[in-house]
Amino acid sequence: MSHRERKGGDARMMRMLRGDGRAVPLEQEADRYLSLGRLTILRADRHLVEATCEGRSRTHRLGYEPGRGWWCSCERDTCPHVMAAMKVTRPVHPAAASDPAFGFQDD
Ligand SMILES: [Zn+2]
Repeated sequence: MSHRERKGGDARMMRMLRGDGRAVPLEQEADRYLSLGRLTILRADRHLVEATCEGRSRTHRLGYEPGRGWWCSCERDTCPHVMAAMKVTRPVHPAAASDPAFGFQDD
């Protein structure tokens, strides 16, 4: 008889809940924004994302830029607006794009 250890899942959930003690995990909030159509992708290409997300009281601007990473006008360290955008876009960092392992070499 073998005993299976659960790894990864539990630790990840704890990390999400620990930050500011919110009852609703960020990922659940992000899913809600997506299901309600609150996230609008204004622009998305290989290296850049621009979007808006309608929060409860105001509309946040967010996006991804090389060198800056993900950002949001709400300025929380980790916010559901960015997490929602991360679920539907996948920008490529220029350094990663030139990595042979990535498979998008220009020649
Ligand atoms: Zn935000």
